[in-house]
Amino acid sequence: MSTVEQGTQARTNGAGTSTIPVDNPATGATIGHIPNLDREGVGELVARARAIQPSWEALGYDGRGAVMVEMRAWMSRNRERIIETVSEENGKTWEDALLGELLYNLDALGFWAKKAAKYLADEKVRPHSPFLLGNKLVQRYRPFGVVGVIGPWNYPLTNNFGDAIPALMAGNTVVLKPSSLAPLTSLLIAEGLRESGLPEDVFLVATGSGDTGSALVDFADFVHFTGSTEVGKKVMAQAAETLTTVTLELGGKDPMIVCADADVERAANCALFYSMQNGGQTCISVERAYVEEPVYEDFVSRVAAKARELRQGVPRGPGSVDVGAVTYPEQAELIERHVRDAVEKGAKVLVGGARNDADGGIFFQPTILRDVDHSMEIMTEETFGPTLPIMRVRDADEAIRLANDSRYGLDSSVFTRDLEKGERLARRVQAGATCVNDCLVNYLALEVPFGGMKESGIGARHGPKGIQKYCQTQQIMVTRFAPKKEIHFFPYRKRVTNGLGRALGLLYGRRGGRG
Ligand code: NDP
Repeated sequence: MSTVEQGTQARTNGAGTSTIPVDNPATGATIGHIPNLDREGVGELVARARAIQPSWEALGYDGRGAVMVEMRAWMSRNRERIIETVSEENGKTWEDALLGELLYNLDALGFWAKKAAKYLADEKVRPHSPFLLGNKLVQRYRPFGVVGVIGPWNYPLTNNFGDAIPALMAGNTVVLKPSSLAPLTSLLIAEGLRESGLPEDVFLVATGSGDTGSALVDFADFVHFTGSTEVGKKVMAQAAETLTTVTLELGGKDPMIVCADADVERAANCALFYSMQNGGQTCISVERAYVEEPVYEDFVSRVAAKARELRQGVPRGPGSVDVGAVTYPEQAELIERHVRDAVEKGAKVLVGGARNDADGGIFFQPTILRDVDHSMEIMTEETFGPTLPIMRVRDADEAIRLANDSRYGLDSSVFTRDLEKGERLARRVQAGATCVNDCLVNYLALEVPFGGMKESGIGARHGPKGIQKYCQTQQIMVTRFAPKKEIHFFPYRKRVTNGLGRALGLLYGRRGGRG
């Protein structure tokens, strides 16, 4: 298995730091070391990124877009290397890396290169106030400066570089802090960007621990954070000290609702795939299923039969295994704790249910549970493992009530053959997205904002909002025709004030008057 060497950037991106080993969770082998940047090191990176930002912004949309398109070609040429790096540091299968990481980023590079200018175009607005008659009013988007992107370990490419793309296209420079568990992909991306013509210091990687991320929150002009709800709250509290704007993409407990009139075979296939892909370590997935009574037994037996067929082990190239590793030991312990808690409270394990630490790696067996309820952590807390608890419900109303009985509100799905009913039910789910007869694929709809409700986050990625958030808005008001002195200027005079009062009465005092 190859070792990913750090690029020049990693070796020069901060002095006086210790290093952190990076392990392949599927084999236990150490595959690299990264600098653990201290506060000073992060400050230096941000200063470098700040110095180059004006010239990057000055390149304009076409200039920046050209680099993104070049990067897309680089990523496509280097796809095997990227997939291998992601898979090795994260333990995910080649297919999970290809579909969940590479595909998304290839698509996003072209999308933002094309759409940025449109989404961030100046908006000319006609002022509604009679007092501004004749004035030119423009709203413009202006990049924050240095955007700090802090990413999680479960998608080292998509939820790290993927969120940097619109920030860069908006004219910001980016300092990315990847998880210390999976930082090598980000270093590889930095190498790719340099080879694609990105000027030095426009995209810098601040490798290190949580403290490195915390320092970035202090120095950056804007922070986009993806990770756990617990750390997200800390980031927001810390950002309040410097009044730094943050967007947070946090945890989820994504419910799936299967109605009695659903295509049970499709629902079962979706449930299995989207609960197990990426080893179940996906924020938008199927974390729990609610199935209407008449089809419960059929659904459960289909899912269980399919789960027994899954192959788990060390990903060694395309098609080698279906379910990869758990990325780090504490995560495996959490999954184990949730399953144990459920079993102690009466759940039945149909498939799996235990760790499967073969080959020196960290694995948890694909696990299907039935007879679960909301007294169990596995139905209320984020498990983030290859587990699917399936609960029987009386009807769709009960399913909706239970789906909404959560502090999270990220993704969700409803399965029914009645598409109108599906949409009606979808509107009642408290989640940032609801798919009808599908799961997760909403993430590819880059035209529409997607973000969490409740404790799943603040702000959104994708759509116009997904790039406008990386900018401050500036109003530009041009007064074209004006007297030497306005009527309301000093000195105040009773006659003028009374006249103005009467004018306000005429304008706003009547029903149907000026709105
Ligand atoms: P964490 O919250 O543990 O870490 C996220 C990032 O924050 C890591 O880079 C981490 O560094 C860093 N960090 C840790 N402490 C601090 C701090 N005090 N200040 C700033 N940064 C800090 O999340 P995980 O990496 O465990 O990711 C899994 C979580 O992410 C799950 O809850 C999942 O649902 C969520 N997620 C949400 C997504 C969404 O779109 N809503 C998408 C993907 C994941 P280090 O790792 O080095 O400690």
